[in-house]
Amino acid sequence: MRNLRKIIIIGVILTVSTNLYSRSIIVETNCPLCDTVVAYRQHISFSVFTNGLDLQPIGSVLFPLPIPRCENCGFVFIEDFFTDYEIIILRNYIIEQNIFYGKENFPDNYFLAFVLQLLETRDNGEVAHFFISSVWEYSFIKMAVQYIEENEIENTNGINFDMSTYIFLKQNAIEKINAVDTNFETYYEMQLVKLDFMRRLGLFDEAKSIINYIRSSQNFYKGIVVDIIRYQTVLIGRNDRNQHFLDHIDL
Ligand SMILES: [Zn+2]
Repeated sequence: MRNLRKIIIIGVILTVSTNLYSRSIIVETNCPLCDTVVAYRQHISFSVFTNGLDLQPIGSVLFPLPIPRCENCGFVFIEDFFTDYEIIILRNYIIEQNIFYGKENFPDNYFLAFVLQLLETRDNGEVAHFFISSVWEYSFIKMAVQYIEENEIENTNGINFDMSTYIFLKQNAIEKINAVDTNFETYYEMQLVKLDFMRRLGLFDEAKSIINYIRSSQNFYKGIVVDIIRYQTVLIGRNDRNQHFLDHIDL
């Protein structure tokens, strides 16, 4: 597992897919806002080996999977994801008002979540999902920079990690999870995500109250969830703010 994670991290550094367990192709599409051709990597096959305690999949490719980002106007999108009406609204925000000014180094999924929120027509759960993905995406940048520093490798790809951005992304995701309706299909899974982000931010008392809430949710508190909660309780007891993974659970 440790070697696998190393391979994935090297994949980030080289910004290529790790072809040991996966296959991918470069796909071209047109930006729905400005019609510029955008190329991005599309994974055809990959494997998931474990998950973070924040449920981030860890496997032979980086999760979340790559999404197109237009170099011309900055729009981050998923193909056939926006209606024509939404595109008209977003063209105004992104091209006319330049709303991403000053946030150029944020992860792609942050931009996608941000525009979904601007539309005001999308479900809070869907918005929260992509804000959570923005933390996952940035976590790999953190891992890559750590790896570069520990191994004294030259940062030729100019990978840039900023701790205050990382903290903001987690706080922001917690705020968006708080707005999700209890009927949303992954509402309870998002409580596990929130719990992990709070622990990693050092908000241990808040994390403990989420643990109590999850324990009282009888339909959800069973199986692996019980193991995760037990593990989180141990980590909180140790004031542990690091990332951990489901394959570490051996209590
Ligand atoms: Zn564009």
